[in-house]
Parts: sequence; structure tokens; C-alpha cells
Amino acid sequence: MAATDTVIIGAGPYGLSLAAHLNASGVPHQIFGKPMQAWSDFMPPGMLMRSEAFASSLYAPQRGYSMKDYCAHKGIRYQPVGMHLSRETFVEYALWFQQNLVSQIRTVEVLDMHRVEGKFHFSLSDGSSLVARRAVLALGLKGFERIPMVLDRLPREYVSHSCEYGNLDWVRDKDIVIVGGGQSALGLAALMHEVGGRIRVLARERNVTWNRTPNSTRGILSKLLKPEGGIGQGWRAHIIAEYPFLFRELRQQLRKEVVNSTWGPSGAWWLRDRVVDRIEVSLGSEVRHAAVENGRVVLRVAVDNQESQIEANHVIAATGFKTDMSRHVFLSNEIVQSMSLVDGVPELTRNFETAVRGLYVIGPASAYSFGPVMRFVYGAKYAAPHVARHISRLYRQDAQTPLTAGCSTATKTTINQAGR
Ligand SMILES: Cc1cc2nc3c(=O)[nH]c(=O)nc-3n(C[C@H](O)[C@H](O)[C@H](O)COP(=O)(O)OP(=O)(O)OC[C@H]3O[C@@H](n4cnc5c(N)ncnc54)[C@H](O)[C@@H]3O)c2cc1C
Repeated sequence: MAATDTVIIGAGPYGLSLAAHLNASGVPHQIFGKPMQAWSDFMPPGMLMRSEAFASSLYAPQRGYSMKDYCAHKGIRYQPVGMHLSRETFVEYALWFQQNLVSQIRTVEVLDMHRVEGKFHFSLSDGSSLVARRAVLALGLKGFERIPMVLDRLPREYVSHSCEYGNLDWVRDKDIVIVGGGQSALGLAALMHEVGGRIRVLARERNVTWNRTPNSTRGILSKLLKPEGGIGQGWRAHIIAEYPFLFRELRQQLRKEVVNSTWGPSGAWWLRDRVVDRIEVSLGSEVRHAAVENGRVVLRVAVDNQESQIEANHVIAATGFKTDMSRHVFLSNEIVQSMSLVDGVPELTRNFETAVRGLYVIGPASAYSFGPVMRFVYGAKYAAPHVARHISRLYRQDAQTPLTAGCSTATKTTINQAGR
């Protein structure tokens, strides 16, 4: 069986940033997954980035590969704050980053991962298998979609989650109900309305919160009072964005409260004019019952305890995500159990390592340890160099012991140096 030191599963912003760092430190590794798949296949065309351009870079070990550098390279007018950065530009930038800095990428899916004698064994969708000393899960939000129970019972052709959408042409002339009051709901509503869907948003909140239009010409005093953080303006956002290792020192319960309460549902500044007075948003709405009648979804919706009935061709739950590592079906039961999950969430060491030695988690699933910044691309700035340094140190210690040592004859391996 082929072998390598470290496997990264997931080729989104976190996986690619880490791979660039491992490449630079000479750690043999492979990265699995279609590059930027969540962004290119499951986010709608025309979507604009919610994060500011200066906070939408992947992280390289050397200069010259930020979003700003890419814009200069392509002749795109760059503005750190207040730029209308499209999903398309972000994906093209990330692929350019990958082509320049990430070599060992394999566009395969991991179908099974289990542990034998402390090493990780992978079965891949192209029929091959591999063994590695270390594994990093960089799986983003995949598998964590949350659909309220009242909607989850509907047949799949009538209900979906907001994270499932690439192409939106199918909504033209259709009645679509979107449940949710945050960026996913409002952003999808605007795009679907613009391609000719009849859209109605049902939000539990009493108000829609719109983020303020950024002012790129702020004076020094304003910047001092409200510094620009990678995930928002103000000192609180700044501290959360820039001190993830300090955040980890907080009590577990407090961390959980901060993650659950920070950045509630809101709409990006550039979205307001595309929603207000254009799309029907019913505030204070609670969906109490859902059924399919005569080929249409029929919802019973309460506003202030007054019930009414709403019909649609399809209902979309833009109701967020919940981290639960046990939902990654390719992980063996033994690995999931050994991770000592609390309510589905892994508690990570300072090095992003789980309770399973050699198994790391980066990206949104690490937010309960390192804070809300890990839910944004910006968090890769800390995760990628830190994990790479740690793995590189271990690799140099382990380099004396061939990866074959400790493997039974059935799993004897040869180090695939070509697989670096
Ligand atoms: C609609 C929407 C808009 C967003 N906008 C922003 C924004 O503007 N700015 C921002 O900072 N954040 C934004 N986010 C959050 C964003 O998803 C994360 O910040 C970022 O994508 C996390 O990167 P990642 O590398 O952890 O995961 P991802 O980008 O999700 O990449 C994970 C990859 O792992 C792959 N994968 C999963 N399972 C397997 C498997 N078994 N085998 C192989 N590969 C696998 C997936 O295909 C996927 O490509 C948005 C999220 C959503 C849903």
C-alpha cells in the first residue's frame, strides 16, 4: 500500500493553505478533494463575498499570493474594504494559489478512514488506498447542514438546504419559500428573485439586521475606536479575529457561549438594496407544519400566534449548520468514539489535534476551540502555519522510523516519496 506522512482531507481555503505550508517545509503529504468544490459547485453564481477583500486571502508561507497580489496580477481594481468581491473571482484566485503552491492534490473523495496500529488507512473513490501517520480534516461545513424537524420530514424534492445551490435557473417562475433571516437566506433570496423566481422569506427574527456600509476613507481616530478586524469592525471583533490562541484559554463553556452568540443573523451591506422593497420578508414567522398537497408544499406559518397558510413549489432551509463530527460517514466508529466529542464537537489541543493522536481538525469545525474566526477564510492565517510547524517538527522526529514499522504484514507499505 502507498504511504505518505500526512494526508489533508478537503481542498478548500484551509486545506490549500495548509498544503502550501507543508510543501514549503518539505513534509511528504497528499491533499484529497476537488479544489474549492464547496465554493464552485455549491454556492450560487453571482454571489458576492461577505468577508472584506483584505480578509479573503488564502495563506501562503511566502509573500506574493494574497488576494491583493492576485488582483494586481490580473489587473483587477483592488480595494481592501468595500470591494464587491465575487465568488467567481475568489474561486479563480484560490485555484491560482493552488496551481502555484500546492502540488500533491488528488481529486478523490475519501470513502473510508480507519486506524490500524496508530496509522491512518484511507480508501479512496478511485479505488486506491493509502496509509499515513497523520491526517488533517479540513472539511468545511460539509455534512453539518441543519434543517428544522418540521421541514426535514418533507420529501427531498420539496425541501433542500441553502448550501446545496450552484445553478439557480430552475427557480424561474417558481414559488420558493426561504426559511431563515441571515445572510444565506437573504443572499439566496436576492439571487433567486433576480433570475425570475417568486420568492418569499420567512424569518424568525423581528428585524432584519443589515451590516453597515464600510467607509474606506475613515480617519485615524475612527480606526482607533473601531479597528478593522478580519471578521468585522470594533475591538471585540478584532480580538476574536486576531487572538485565537488566547480564545482557546477560555473555559470550554464560555467558548461555546461566545461561538453560539457571536454574529447572529444579518445581511451584508451590499445586499440591502437588492432585498428591501423587492422581496417579501415576513418577520417573526414560525413554521408550525409542512406537508405536500397536490404537488405543492403547504406550510402553516404563525406570526404572533396568528396562523396562515403559504404554498410553494419548493422550500429552502437557510437555517445554518451544526458541527457534528459523527456525521462524517467515512470516519470509522472507532475514530469517532476516540475523538471524545462533546455534543458532536471535538476539543482540540493548541496544535489543533483531537484526542486521537495524529488527527487534526481545521476550519469551521475548530471554532469551539479557537473562536468564530475559524468559521471564516481569515482563520486559515493562524491554522495553516501553526499546524504545519507542528507537523513538520513531528515529521523530522519520526523520519528515523520508516512508516512501515509497526504495520502488520497485511498493511506493509512503501513510503511514496513521489507522493510529496
Ligand atoms: C453561502 C456561504 C457563503 C460564505 N461566505 C463567506 C465569505 O464571504 N467569507 C468567509 O470568510 N467565509 C464565508 N463562508 C464560510 C466558508 O464556508 C468558510 O470560511 C470556508 O469555506 C472554510 O474553508 P474550508 O477549507 O474549511 O472548507 P470548504 O471550503 O468547505 O472546503 C472543504 C472541502 O472538503 C471537501 N470534502 C468534504 N468531504 C470530503 C471527503 N470525504 N473527501 C474529500 N474531500 C472532501 C469538500 O468537497 C470541500 O471542497 C461562507 C459559507 C457559506 C455557506
